[in-house]
Amino acid sequence: MNQFSKAAQHERCSFFGNVTLGSSVSLSELRELYHVVVLAYGAESDRALGIPGEYLSGIHSAREFVWWYNGHPDGKNLSPDLKSTDTAVILGQGNVALDVARILLQSTSVLATTDIASHALEALEQSSIRKVYLVGRRGPAQAACTAKELREILGIKDLYIHINEVDLHKSPEDEEVLKNNRIHRRVYELLSKAATSAPSHPSSNQHELHFVFFRKPDRFLDSGEGSGRVAGVHFEKTMLKAVGPGKQIAVGTGSYEDLDCGLVLKSIGYKSVSVDGLPFDHEKGVVPNIKGRVLAETSGDPTQLEKGLYVCGWLKRGPTGIIATNLYCAEETVASISEDVHQGEIASASTLPKPGRQGLLQLLDNRDVRAVPFSAWEKIDSEERRLGNVRSKPREKLTTYENLLKIATE
Ligand code: NAP
Repeated sequence: MNQFSKAAQHERCSFFGNVTLGSSVSLSELRELYHVVVLAYGAESDRALGIPGEYLSGIHSAREFVWWYNGHPDGKNLSPDLKSTDTAVILGQGNVALDVARILLQSTSVLATTDIASHALEALEQSSIRKVYLVGRRGPAQAACTAKELREILGIKDLYIHINEVDLHKSPEDEEVLKNNRIHRRVYELLSKAATSAPSHPSSNQHELHFVFFRKPDRFLDSGEGSGRVAGVHFEKTMLKAVGPGKQIAVGTGSYEDLDCGLVLKSIGYKSVSVDGLPFDHEKGVVPNIKGRVLAETSGDPTQLEKGLYVCGWLKRGPTGIIATNLYCAEETVASISEDVHQGEIASASTLPKPGRQGLLQLLDNRDVRAVPFSAWEKIDSEERRLGNVRSKPREKLTTYENLLKIATE
């Protein structure tokens, strides 16, 4: 946030909040207004599994769940049912999967001291979920999470952890992966340690976290009687198949197993969405680009560039990587812009004047879009901190657009 504020407060930066690309202003309008447009809007949708039963009630994407507990106005109404079941299955073993598992399993007295949205805290206080299964299609040597996040969940007080020790068996290919990849090695070591140091049974009422490996979801089970509610997941057991140096994929073995549960969170990755006029690779969910320069087509022809249009972050590379990864990614895009400016690839203010900020403000005003400046964002920030202070937490999120705009314009 501090980095963000420094950039937003810079005299040469104008901040327009509450403006939606595609409805408040179109991409082609922005490109008419500015010499350079950089798209950095990330990934706000989800990958789908494409298996039967995916839309039964009780199944949500992890993104929706994260939006819900983080107080995103579009996630407030998710209201996941945490009271009709004691078992949740999380599909995927990346850091997002660990985040949602941690929220389900952590004591609510600990969560109450964080900036979690109060509607989520109330629901979690009444939650009956005691057992969480984190299910991956590959093995512990391939788990997508990182050590810091894994340590955090393994460190939850009084949590029973279960890992099948046979799953920890390493093939020569696994040994190779672990030798060459420090992140996978540390994750594997933490999982092995957790497997061997756990007691053989949970004590009564103890929260449980089960790591399940080598299972891929085949279909979701309906609770029957036309209720449309999920009652479990039908998994196919998998084994690994080497498909190239250091790369092993999960393939089905033809043997199946059910896992009963009343809540499923799919944490198999985010997906970027496109806007009108933007070249988009729907298969990969990214904008085709070379070092951040947007290509006119998905064919990869570098001579066909969308002049003045750039991309960075998850929209450029796909939905992986932490903040540091995005920093390098942004530097690469900025270097491309600099190079293009110096080589005269982009029209300049003298060769082709463009309206810029004034033009955008005029367009938004004509459409009755209330653009929120950074000073108004700061008002929201201090109001959230003030509300949080009353409840002894770092902040209390404002979770409706109505309240956000009210504070912003006060
Ligand atoms: P991710 O790390 O790519 O993990 C996706 C998980 O879903 C993997 O376990 C993957 O298994 C599995 N998966 C994908 N397709 C599947 C399918 N069809 N069937 C079954 N399983 C499938 O993605 P993420 O957890 O959404 O995280 C996104 C990025 O944000 C990551 O780079 C993550 O590190 C980062 N992040 C960081 C933090 C943090 O630093 N605290 C917090 C949250 C997120 P395979 O490995 O077999 O493909």
